[in-house]
Amino acid sequence: MGRIDKGVKCSVSGCNKEAARSLSAEKVKAAGLNVGSERRSYLCKEHYKEYKKRTKKDKQLEKWRHMG
Ligand SMILES: [Zn+2]
Repeated sequence: MGRIDKGVKCSVSGCNKEAARSLSAEKVKAAGLNVGSERRSYLCKEHYKEYKKRTKKDKQLEKWRHMG
């Protein structure tokens, strides 16, 4: 995780900002962000913040995933 090439865009649908972080798409999806089906997701600063916020408090979502 971590290193990103310059010019890579955020993977969140509708977002065109420059990516700041790369994460596994699975985790990003689990956090409820709308990313494509690539194995790797790129997040801009703002979406990374949102991702972190959601993963902190959304333990429920994880539960829900395991049920489905
Ligand atoms: Zn973004």
